[in-house]
Amino acid sequence: MTVYLNGSFLPVAEAKVSVLDRGFIFGDGIYEVIPVYGGRIFRLPHHLERLDLSLEGIHLANPMTHGKWQTVLEELVERNGSSDQSLYLQITRGVAIREHDFPHDAEPTVFAMSTPVAPRTADIAAGINAVTVEDIRWKWCHIKAIALLPNILMHRQAVEQGADEAIMLRDHFVTEGAASNVFIVNNGVVLTPPKSNLLLPGITRDLVVELCHANAIPCKDEAISEQQLRSADEIWITSSTREIVPVVRLDGAPVGNGQPGSLWHRLHHLYQDYKQAFRKGRAD
Ligand code: PMP
Repeated sequence: MTVYLNGSFLPVAEAKVSVLDRGFIFGDGIYEVIPVYGGRIFRLPHHLERLDLSLEGIHLANPMTHGKWQTVLEELVERNGSSDQSLYLQITRGVAIREHDFPHDAEPTVFAMSTPVAPRTADIAAGINAVTVEDIRWKWCHIKAIALLPNILMHRQAVEQGADEAIMLRDHFVTEGAASNVFIVNNGVVLTPPKSNLLLPGITRDLVVELCHANAIPCKDEAISEQQLRSADEIWITSSTREIVPVVRLDGAPVGNGQPGSLWHRLHHLYQDYKQAFRKGRAD
């Protein structure tokens, strides 16, 4: 695997970062995950805009223009073969003596890798189990921070209960999944929590909302209470790597009739059609 590190493309085994890197010492950095279909980088402008939002959130200037990012990422994709891939990029505040305050003269560390991915259709179609957990995170969750320990620990709670995702509740309202956004369907209306500092503005979330609007499917950005979640006809989680996944059991109880719902089927097909058009260069 060829990776990108601070201006060079090199084999992963040769890519080294100092132990004083603030990403390693403090988790002082941000990241993005971007799917690649048919050699094309999916929704790159949206990901680069969110990257800017995260960088702004941690007061770090973008070390590259969007044009330069595109050139680097396209070269990285090309160097890693022709199958579908998942691009990961990370920027940290760089290498400096360990002090909390921002260093004056550190150069950000810029890293990117791209790994092949296989289609996940089978486990998507069966649906997954999810559990609810209390959202114990800080209140700047719109920043895609590399410090993911809360998410990792919450996801672990899900795994220990035989589930695949943890859905977080803050003051009895849904925020998001440990690594996903959350949608519910209530009487034919699709609902997802509005964007705020309490959740990551998911690129997949936005595309699902766009697809609903374009296809006259009622869809609203609206706070979802714990009670609405528990009585929902359908629950879905969304992310770039998992796409749209139906949740068929929540805390052990069936969601709706315990099968992926009809609106999930509809959105799943619309999403696959969109991806297919993108592969052929007919969608952005
Ligand atoms: N929320 C969190 C906490 C996540 O980690 C992710 C996945 N990176 C998402 C939402 C979904 O975002 P996206 O659709 O951009 O992958």
